[in-house]
Amino acid sequence: MKNHNYEALQEELKKRPNILITTHRGPDGDAMGSSLALYQVLKAQGYEVSVVVPNSYPKFLHWLPCNKEVVEFEGNEEKAQALIDDAELIFCLDFNDLSRTDMMSESLQNSTATFVMIDHHQDPSDFANIMFSVPGISSTAQLVYEFNEQMGWNKLLTVDIAQCIYTGLVTDTGSFRFSSVDTRTHEIAAKLIELGLEQADIHQKLFDNNKESRLKLLGYCLSEKLEVLPEYHTAVMSLSQEELDQFNFVKGDTEGFVNYALSIDGVILTAFFVQNENKVKISFRSLNDFRANLLSKKHFKGGGHINAAGGIFEGSLEEAIHKFKTLLPDYKKELIANR
Ligand code: 5GP
Ligand code: MN
Repeated sequence: MKNHNYEALQEELKKRPNILITTHRGPDGDAMGSSLALYQVLKAQGYEVSVVVPNSYPKFLHWLPCNKEVVEFEGNEEKAQALIDDAELIFCLDFNDLSRTDMMSESLQNSTATFVMIDHHQDPSDFANIMFSVPGISSTAQLVYEFNEQMGWNKLLTVDIAQCIYTGLVTDTGSFRFSSVDTRTHEIAAKLIELGLEQADIHQKLFDNNKESRLKLLGYCLSEKLEVLPEYHTAVMSLSQEELDQFNFVKGDTEGFVNYALSIDGVILTAFFVQNENKVKISFRSLNDFRANLLSKKHFKGGGHINAAGGIFEGSLEEAIHKFKTLLPDYKKELIANR
């Protein structure tokens, strides 16, 4: 398959297909920002478009323009399935393997639509008919901006669309700090601001909306649950269901916690374990060239980017942490080399 096949996509669009936009399970700022930006750009051209996401996403993203149009598959299976059945062209944003859509993957697999992938993760699988995959780029939102430009659609950008793209840029780059950020990321941010976007307002909406209980959960996690393993330049944190309940946890509350441990001097790998029924969701973050995605893929059925990855462990919290710690000696050399 030819990557970046704009001609093939133009041909598909000439048929005026019913379009569906989807993204990965547990949508984040990049997933939602990219999806809602593309939604509005296609709507502006008169296409029939819907956005169906596998499950719910954090409240701090609900202010995004057109958020009301989003259908969550989980809990609305009938409505979501009808939209999937009607779709003739499906845009897959911010993921590169159908398994990342989890509860929606079977429905997508059974669809006869043409699949278009726009994504920035490593090693795309070949489920898409038309692919726009740039693993080095810092966010799918940046790729959506470039894609719009190539398609000649950037003249359709509005402040609302700019807000969606900017949200993806900010949330996937740690507010423009990760090494994946390039001059183009800043150039695009500048163009969005020229359109009338107020960046202080977006940062405030994304980051200054803590509930007291979330901040206290973070405080508890850092003071009671943080373990540093200096020998391995690694830090571990975890939260059990009981602890989450104690702080009235709601989805999204633990977002970003894993990064705090990475700010400790000398630490280049952090793992954050959160209990979710009989599974454990794990977030990995790393510095330099330590490949967190490979560790996650090999041992925790996961993947992601070099410095930000995630995975799953089926079993108890204690077992998950134990497994991780017993792996560390195998990675000691790589950890020290990246110090
Ligand atoms: P987070 O720690 O924020 O949940 O995830 C960080 C990154 O890791 C995500 O942007 C995503 O690319 C990747 N990721 C998270 N969970 C999984 C997973 O279960 N499987 C795969 N393949 N990647 C994941
Ligand atoms: Mn992303």
